[in-house]
Amino acid sequence: MRDKIMVTQSSMPEFDEYVDEIRDIWDSVWLTNMGTKHRQLQKQLSGLLQVPEVSLFCNGHMALELTLQAFELSGQVITTPYSFASTTHAIVRNNLTPVFCDIREDDYTIDIEKLEALITPKTTAIVPVHVYGNICDNDAIMEIAHKHRLKVIYDAAHAFCVEQNGVNVAAYGDASMFSFHATKVFHTIEGGAVASSEDWLHRKLYQLKNFGIQNEEVVDEIGANAKMNEFQAAMGLCNLRHIYDQIHKRKRAADRYRQHLEGIPGIKLCREKEGVKSNYAYFPVVFDSELLTVDRDAVWQKLKEENIFTRKYFYPLINEFACYRPIYNAAETPVAKKVASSVLCLPIYAELELDVVDEICKIIKGMVLR
Ligand SMILES: *Cc1c(COP(=O)(O)O)cnc(C)c1O
Repeated sequence: MRDKIMVTQSSMPEFDEYVDEIRDIWDSVWLTNMGTKHRQLQKQLSGLLQVPEVSLFCNGHMALELTLQAFELSGQVITTPYSFASTTHAIVRNNLTPVFCDIREDDYTIDIEKLEALITPKTTAIVPVHVYGNICDNDAIMEIAHKHRLKVIYDAAHAFCVEQNGVNVAAYGDASMFSFHATKVFHTIEGGAVASSEDWLHRKLYQLKNFGIQNEEVVDEIGANAKMNEFQAAMGLCNLRHIYDQIHKRKRAADRYRQHLEGIPGIKLCREKEGVKSNYAYFPVVFDSELLTVDRDAVWQKLKEENIFTRKYFYPLINEFACYRPIYNAAETPVAKKVASSVLCLPIYAELELDVVDEICKIIKGMVLR
């Protein structure tokens, strides 16, 4: 049997590179609470994301949850059910009510044609998701948000290093959350960041991620503990040196998948958009069971038997989770429901060998082309 192929594999710097990076931590004996490594990473990331400042966190979820808290929102927040659990949980854990908008058929981001009809006097914000690094229709979102005086906080967990016409995705909305989890294109083991040009937001987040402490004697916010530690930041500094090389290698795998799978009736790949620089974070494939004799689950099963572990990502939909199903109806987001039942994310990571991509595609073609 071949070695296991997982859907992703964390990027790792050379062992000695990380050791060199953490040596300073022994010298300073400063392990967390916004130390030198934290500050260095913060500075480098604000350069890369083209924003005046970023706030760093222990993970992406806490970054999003505390950002929503910082805006002191109330009532309803519009988001999509086609995302990771974190997006909706962050809204609900702030005592806000999520309202689910359907997604677009071609790039799985929020469908702005259906968005405005969901706005009520109670709506205070929109949390769109740049799914698989596909950029939302930001101009339309901003126009609607402006008209109805809504905040826009992006879940940009998938969109690190993604650009449109030379503009980094971090430029859009009131704030954008990035995840630096081990499975993401760029990681700090666990970690996350918020990019925003709002000065007050970074000051408030600094406090909220450190228990709401303002100074030694004043605690005036009900904060949490969501700080990024020095070992995480050191991993980030190492991984950042190799990020463009990593993305380039991912592109090679993505191009190879496209060579094999593009144009096969019943197989749908993400459209490559003009002017968009992708990070090749995921390689989603939609299997149209009306045009094929096999469905997504059959492909997932067959690849699993070959020791290749793909992911039904995103399935199930968030509005079908056991914790939300009693309150929501997935039939109200029909496109999301259909995509969730037919999508499969194929393995993609920098060190993925191209002949493994060939092999995966051969198995898929053997199933669908008959
Ligand atoms: C990974 C991810 C998150 C959460 O990030 P963590 O760093 O794992 O907490 C949120 N939203 C989406 C879409 C994600 O993929």
